[in-house]
Amino acid sequence: MRKKIVAGNWKMNKTFSEAEMLLEEIAELLTDDLLSKATVVVCPPSLYLELADDIAAENGFYTGAQNLSDKESGAYTGEISAAMIKSIGVDYVIIGHSERRTYYHETDELLKEKVLQALKHELTPVFCCGEVLDQRNQSIHFDVVKKQLEIALFDLSPEEFSKIVIAYEPVWAIGTGVNATPAQAQEMHTYIRKLIADRYNKEIADETTILYGGSCNEKNAPELFSQPDVDGGLIGGASLKAESFIGIIKAI
Ligand code: PEP
Repeated sequence: MRKKIVAGNWKMNKTFSEAEMLLEEIAELLTDDLLSKATVVVCPPSLYLELADDIAAENGFYTGAQNLSDKESGAYTGEISAAMIKSIGVDYVIIGHSERRTYYHETDELLKEKVLQALKHELTPVFCCGEVLDQRNQSIHFDVVKKQLEIALFDLSPEEFSKIVIAYEPVWAIGTGVNATPAQAQEMHTYIRKLIADRYNKEIADETTILYGGSCNEKNAPELFSQPDVDGGLIGGASLKAESFIGIIKAI
């Protein structure tokens, strides 16, 4: 059975002491029962990953980086490599978040290189895809997502692809307070699973965890997560408070 995951993307928020406090609160509220239902991943700013991973390892949850370099090592000032992230015990990495695509001009060709780096160093990529509002209004959202997956992921071997987690994050839903309806999420997740089955096979498609992200909160999570092809969530704003993050995990 495929894994259910709830991952929190803190983005560029929290000072060191605030991060420490939030991690301790999450650890405190996570029960064995919750941890048996979902894999919980916290993605703080890279600066706090070591601290986060120490707390996570002691308390049954996992950590993820929000980004990584497409390069192995060397003269790339300011970058953080997959090997560095892995060397402190981190297991996941978000790749292709819409904010990186928009503000840092990351293309699917570049994201493909990042995915390869992640896999080479045994990090699980949480690959983000999704359309902007204009594209949905033009009814080209399926084509947009298809192209993102084809360029960045579909050259992977079946064995490599089996290690990928996908997050469908319609850009118009991220940080806006307007979530995709459960039906819209289910429709796109089914479509993504069909693309995977066509490119690889049904077994791999059925085993791929596909998360929903975009203004997911304690209120809308139960209905979103009850959709058969929604396997959890990538949570931004609502992961910045322990109570709301845990509330979302309870919806799994
Ligand atoms: C995100 O940044 O991945 C995200 C889903 O943000 P939010 O939950 O705040 O919409």
